[in-house]
Formats: sequence, C-alpha cells, structure tokens
Amino acid sequence: MRFPLALTVKIASHIVKHKMIKRAPKFAMVLQLEPLHTCNLTCTGCGRIREYSTSLKDMVPLEQCLGAAQDCDAPMVSICGGEPLIYPKIEELVAGLREQGRIIYICTNGVFMRKKMREYFATVYDAANPVHEKRMQKLLDAKLITEKEAEAIRHADAAAKAKVVIKPSKWMYWNVHVDGLEFTHDLIVEREGVFKECVAAIKMAKILGYQTATNTTVYKETDVQELEDMFKFLSSLDVDGHTISPGYDYDAAKKDMVKRLGRDPKEFFLTRDMTRKKFAKIEEWGQLFTIFGTPVYQEFLAGKRELTCTAWAIPTYNVKGWKAPCYLMTDGHYPTYAEMLGKVVWEKYGVVDGVARDPRCEHCMVHCGYDPSGALSDKPRDSWINMKYNFGARPKPFAATPELEKRAYNGVTIGKGHLAEAKAAINPAASARGAFSRKEEEHTHATPAAGGGCGSGDTSQRDDLLAKIKANGSVTSKTE
Ligand code: SF4
Ligand code: SF4
Repeated sequence: MRFPLALTVKIASHIVKHKMIKRAPKFAMVLQLEPLHTCNLTCTGCGRIREYSTSLKDMVPLEQCLGAAQDCDAPMVSICGGEPLIYPKIEELVAGLREQGRIIYICTNGVFMRKKMREYFATVYDAANPVHEKRMQKLLDAKLITEKEAEAIRHADAAAKAKVVIKPSKWMYWNVHVDGLEFTHDLIVEREGVFKECVAAIKMAKILGYQTATNTTVYKETDVQELEDMFKFLSSLDVDGHTISPGYDYDAAKKDMVKRLGRDPKEFFLTRDMTRKKFAKIEEWGQLFTIFGTPVYQEFLAGKRELTCTAWAIPTYNVKGWKAPCYLMTDGHYPTYAEMLGKVVWEKYGVVDGVARDPRCEHCMVHCGYDPSGALSDKPRDSWINMKYNFGARPKPFAATPELEKRAYNGVTIGKGHLAEAKAAINPAASARGAFSRKEEEHTHATPAAGGGCGSGDTSQRDDLLAKIKANGSVTSKTE
C-alpha cells in the first residue's frame, strides 16, 4: 500500500462520518498548525516569515494548539510554521496530538532534526541491547553523529533520559522541505549546506525507525528533469512519500520578491498554464514514486480536469486564530473553526470551470486548496481511482548509485555553491581553488549527471551579492 492501512482507515472513516452520517457540507481533513512563525531560514518565496513579520516572536500556547486540533477535529495535523522544531514545546505538542489519536506531519526544513533524534535515542539507548549499539554504529559509520554525540547518548543522565522526545511512530512523519537537488535547494532556502543536512537527517531518521516524507514546491524556474532526479534520489534513501505542489504568487511572497530581491514575481511563480506543463508527468511520477496527493488532484495538476477549491478542508491555525480563506491568502482570522466556516463566504473564492471567482485565486492550483477536493469528490469514478491508488503496491525504491548521488550533490559539496562566485570575489585566493563561473562553464540543465549542471534555479541571491561587491568593493550581507 502507498499509505499505511491504519492511517487510510482513519481518514476514510473520518470522511464517511462527516459526509454520510453527519451530512456536514464542510469539515476539516488536515489542520495546518502554525505554533510560531519564527524560522532559522529565509527561503525565497516563503510568505509566512514576511506576512507575520510583526508577530515572529509570538507563539501559540501548547494548550491552545491542542485545543485547535480538537476544535476542527481533523484526523491529520501538519505542524508547520515557521520552523516547528524551534517551538519550545514541540515534543509535548506531538505527544498531545498523538494522545488525541491524530496523524502527525512535522513540516521541517531539516536543520534541527538530527538534534531532536539524538535526544530521542538518548532516552531509549540501552547498552545491553545489541540492536541499539548496532544502530549507533550505523549512525557513526555514516557520519550522521560524531563520536562525542555517541558518547553523550551512551552516557545520558537521568534528566536526558526523562526528557519528552519525538519518538518514531507509524502515526508520525518527518516531512522535510526539499525543493530540488543541492544547488537549487540551497539557493531557494538561501543558505548553503541545508540540502546536505536534510539528506543526513533523512538517513538518520530511517536508521532510527522514523517515517519520513518530503514536501516540494515547484517554481517557474524548477527544472522537470531535476525534479525526477530528486524523486529518484529521495526514493533511494527510502523516503516514505512525497508531497508536491506548485508555488503560488500570494500577496506576501509577491511583495517580498519586489521589495527584498527587486524581482518581478512573474519571473518566479507559475501561472495555471505553466503549472500544467510542469506537472504534465505527475501521473507517471505517481506510478514511479510514492506521491501522496490523490490521483484526482494529479489529474487536475496535469490539466486533465477542473476541481473546485476546498480550502476549508485544510484550515490553518496560528497566533492570530483561524486564518481565512486559506493557507495562502488572508482576509481575516477567526476565533473558532466553526465561526470561520460560518462567516466566510466560500463561494467568493477559487476557480470554477476556469473562471476565477477572486482574481487572487486565478493561478492557484496548490495542494492545500485542491488536494482535498480530490479526496472528497462525490463521483464514484474518483472514489475508485483514489482507492485503487492508495491500495496499490508502493513503488519500489530506486537503487542508490554513485551516479544518482553525483547528480544530487551538484552544489556546494563539489565547490559549486550558489555563493561560491561571490565568496571567491571577496576572497581572491579562493578563486584559484575553482569558483563556479557561468562564463567558464556551460550552465546546463540537461546534463547534471556530468557534474556540470547546477540544476535550475534563481541566481538572484548570488547575483545580488555580486552586484553589491562590484558597487561597494565589500559585502556585509547576511548571506555570507
Ligand atoms: S523553512 Fe519554511 S518557514 Fe522557514 S523560511 Fe523556509 S519556507 Fe519559510
Ligand atoms: S484557490 Fe483556494 S487555496 Fe487557492 S488562493 Fe484561492 S482560496 Fe486559497
């Protein structure tokens, strides 16, 4: 099965209960819970850290987070943000949601995952248990922990042993943000080394028995071939599933593009037509890889059908309350889910038969607006293909090969980080060691295997930095 049976049964019974028994016209399927908006990264295209820039220090208290989950009663909770692993009570939040019987996705940029997993391992490690030492050895051999960290785990004191931690569970997924192979991902997250850290975190998670998923946003500059390579690489790491969604030019992200990067958002985000072209092979990918979106949503992305937005099924709760109408757009916040359902005029939003009810929805095909539309479709044929997809055999993992690995690490690992040229300009001695230059080397998306391809991606950050260097002769940017 693509999705574990117990989880499928939980979601299916939730739909039956609300649609057939309660006859509820609108209900929550996935809660997007944002306990805070603080983040350790500043990804290009992230509207969150910009829209809520004045409340970055605010947090939703633990009890309120748990109350929000009970309020909407969604069977799945996606803990996002900001970076949820910065939330001081993240462990208690995960434990509390599990006590409520919910399926949990922790949507993380991956940077703090290994620390959280070391803390978990310290609580269970037992020197007398050969399985534990074998796992420790695997982690050491793969350089996923240091000797010092291994010793700290082996000799954890009573306080470390008693800590509430995030444990592996069939009800919980680490959902790691990966937007491309090394060069592209590090460029989008605006920091070198993050891709490598994400991969290390995924490898460590698999050794310790966690379920892992990835989520990818596709932008205008995203190269389709690179996406396929990324899925193959992630599959070779035995990642359990992937969410993929087109990027969308919502207001906050758009304003940031213009103000901070001086870029026209049209250069970066996808229109509907472009989305359909980028996702032309999504159904094929659904057969090759464990893509989590329903096949109905996949048909929609590929341009084979229309769907009506059901943003109410994936509501967002954050420091300001229930955010309406959707994860992306904000026309108001409400104190309860029921109030939001009752007061928002849902008919004002979405695209129906190709016509946008609200101009801001025109190019939106995002997962949080349309994936539940696929899961909740009334058409028997849609229910059948969804069921067939879910119960179908999980695609086999791709074999890990040096070739695939070489394609994945096409950035800073091989000296081609997106800031390499800028750094080399600051430190001329470094340039002698081979800084990446477009002039010297063909910028190609077609031959990443050759090690020369840098994937695709927006070079604005590096170009911006280079422009500043040229203008000022020095740089004090945060990106150094
Ligand atoms: S990691 Fe997530 S929340 Fe943080 S800046 Fe990136 S997209 Fe935004
Ligand atoms: S179509 Fe739906 S999810 Fe997309 S922006 Fe409009 S209301 Fe939000």
